[in-house]
Parts: sequence; structure tokens; C-alpha cells
Amino acid sequence: MNAPISSSRSPPLTHGLGGYIFPDLLEYLKDNRKCVIYCATIELCWRVYIYLLRQLPPGRERLRRVRLYHAMCWPDENEETVRMIRDDPQCQIVVATVAFGQGFNIRVLLDSLMVGVPKTVAQTLQQAGRVGRDQSSNGRAVIFVQSSAYKSAEKYLAQDPARRAQAKHNNKSLSTMNNEKALMLSTMECLIAFFNKLYDNSGETSRLDCIAAKRRLPCSNCRPQFIGPLFFPPSPLPIGAPPLAAFTAVDKPPLPSSTTTSGAAKQARKLTKAMRATAETELRLFRERVHRYERDRVSHGYTPASSYFPNPAITSILDHFLAISTVDNLATIVPKWKHRDRHGSALLELIENLQGTFARDLEAARLQKKAANRAKAKAKKRHADESDDEMVEEEDEVSEEEPPAAAPSKPATRKRSALEDTTNEEPKPKRPRAPLLSAAAVAESFRPQYTTRTRRRPDQENILH
Ligand SMILES: [Zn+2]
Repeated sequence: MNAPISSSRSPPLTHGLGGYIFPDLLEYLKDNRKCVIYCATIELCWRVYIYLLRQLPPGRERLRRVRLYHAMCWPDENEETVRMIRDDPQCQIVVATVAFGQGFNIRVLLDSLMVGVPKTVAQTLQQAGRVGRDQSSNGRAVIFVQSSAYKSAEKYLAQDPARRAQAKHNNKSLSTMNNEKALMLSTMECLIAFFNKLYDNSGETSRLDCIAAKRRLPCSNCRPQFIGPLFFPPSPLPIGAPPLAAFTAVDKPPLPSSTTTSGAAKQARKLTKAMRATAETELRLFRERVHRYERDRVSHGYTPASSYFPNPAITSILDHFLAISTVDNLATIVPKWKHRDRHGSALLELIENLQGTFARDLEAARLQKKAANRAKAKAKKRHADESDDEMVEEEDEVSEEEPPAAAPSKPATRKRSALEDTTNEEPKPKRPRAPLLSAAAVAESFRPQYTTRTRRRPDQENILH
């Protein structure tokens, strides 16, 4: 395998995989080599894809430069992507899941970038093997490893081998770890030799490291010992074809952050409406000054005043107003302003003066608000004290006229008994229980309460006898 693989000696990713920016990728992509970027999930594919599109100049060309390939794309769309990466020199990147490359070979692919460690060593080798098919070119496979993956590998190997399965079950961070993967992440020996040993590959030099085996390209673990240039040329473009656009985020100075400003301006990241209006007026006056100064320097005098300091430049400055502190900041914010060399420092002075004024205004407003709050709190307290006094006086009056009320016989809160209706009304007093009757009295009470008519008459008694 020609492709050197980045491993434990490489610095881990400088960003997580859960976010929306992947700047570590740009270091490799700016070499303009045809590459596949492998992601574990379709969702991650999308985030990487969107990030890369945003690093390229706007326009349709970027949709040609970066393509998506996964199971949720239409089959003919995926076929078009394969055709483009194979035949179109302007198509550089395919962001894909593991499905890419199964069943077909693309000889022109030079780089395989894996965002996160693949599930298994076999999958890693499969994805790395998609590039460098052409023996005359230098293929390159890179795994972007999260620092947590290194930690998980160490933790996994620290477990007793018999207990590793249980550890995987108990610990979520170890659930995706296995023996080979943990060893691959933690090995300090030659990676090619490690893979050869793992798969029991034969060959005279299979167990030697890249230096001893004189491999054309070293693996990342052997790289420190490798003497000689490592050259990864870009994919060829047809003669006369326009060069690929640069990724704008590469080497671009970062936008100034508002932490460079001081005092109250630091808290207010944006200008208030009133401040923005003031700053805009000042910037328009500044434009007049530039106009007056510059119009005599040009041979034709019909250039409109707005062209000396265009409106978009003013808006851009207003948007970043509190973050500007150097002329370099201005170069980032208004890169196309053609009079920056001569008037940049004057503009910066104006901005700094206004920043100072705004900071003082904000501070004064803050102090004023604080004083107002304090006065309000004081007035409230005084009012509360006064009303307390009145209440005390009233109570005193009452106590003079009437005897003190008896303490309430029941506590204010009572415990509600089980199965009682949820109501705050006091329960009604129960009827007193009736006295127990004797069995004879109860039996008596069940007898008919009326007198029956079937009473024998005295004369009938005689007949019966
Ligand atoms: Zn090696």
C-alpha cells in the first residue's frame, strides 16, 4: 500500500465531529488533489459538504467542485458524481459514506480523508485502498482522529482481556472499540508492518518498517525517520483550463473579535441604533474629505463622491465597528477599498475616536442607570418602612382598645387525611354515633310496625276445640 496513514503520532483533530466547521480538512484539500472524504453518517456528510461549499467562492462552480455520494441521493445523481470525479477536472471532492467505491475503481483519486476513525481496521484499510490505484502517483490516506478515540483505545487496552466485552457493554465510550482498532490507535511501530502482521501477510519485507523496507512513501509513524522530500502534487488540469478556486478560509486573517476593544464597548458587541446613526454620519463626512483630497489627483473629475468610499464599505465597517483596532482589521473588512493605503490610518483614527466617545457614553449611561436603580430601591425601602410604621401604630391602637385575641385553637395548616376530597374547606363535623342497641331491640325494629287484622276472635276458638 502506497498510502501513508496518519495515526497516533499525528496531532488529534483540533475540532470535534459534532459541529459545523472542519478546518483541519482544508490543509489537505488546498493541495487540489482529487479526493474522497469518508464520513460515518449521512448527516455528517451533509455538515462537511455545507462547510466546504461555504469555504469556496459563491457561484455554481462550487457545486461542481464538491459532490455528495450516499444512499439518500438518487441513483442517477450518484452515478453522475462517479462520472464527474473520474472525468471532470474541475470536480475535486466527493463527500461520501462507506458505500462509495464499492464495486468500482476510480484511478484518478489521490487522497482518502476519513473524518473520524472508521468502525473497524478492515473498513479503514478498505477506505484507504480506494486511492493510489495508479502506481505512478502518490496516494495518501489520512484518518482525522478525535483525541477521545485515543483515550478510549488506552482505556480499552488497560482492561483485563477477559473483561473487555463487559467493559464495552458498561462504558458507552468503549462501545465502538475493538482489539484491533485499539491496537492500531495506540501502536508506535510501523503501521504497514502492523497491518501485515495483523492479516498475516507474507513477504520478505512485510514485517519491516518503512525505512528498513525502503518503501516509496512512509507511514505516519515512520515519517520522522524518513529522509527525502514528500511530494503530493495536485491532480492534473487540462492545458488552458482555469485553476481551481482557492478555499477562502485558508490563510485568511481571522476577523477581529470584539475583545480587542475596551471598557463598556467590550460588553456591547454591536452598536446601538443611535451610535450607528452617528458613526454613519461621521463616515459619510469622512468620504467627503477623501473625495476633496483625491479628486484633484485624478485626471478626470467626474467620478461620483460615493466611489471614493462606497456604501458597502461603510456598512461593513459599521457591522464590525467595535472590533476594529488595527489597519490590518480594515484590510480584512474593506479589502477592496482602493484608497486604504493613503487614508486607512485617518479612518482608523476616526473610528478609534468614535469608539472612545461611545465607550464613555455607554459608561455614563451605565452609571446613570445604576444611580437611578439605587434611588428607586431607596425610595421603595423608605416607602416600605413608612407603611410598616403605620401598621405598627394601627396595631398599637387596636391593642389599647381590645384585649389580645386568643391564640387560634387550630394550626393554620392541617394535614389532609387520605381519600379526603381535595378542597380547602374545613371538613364538616361528623354526626355523633348512635348508641348500640341490643339484638332483641334490633329484631323488634324489623317487625311490622302495624297491627295485623288476622286476629282470632274468641268465638272461633271454641269451634276449633
Ligand atoms: Zn511505517
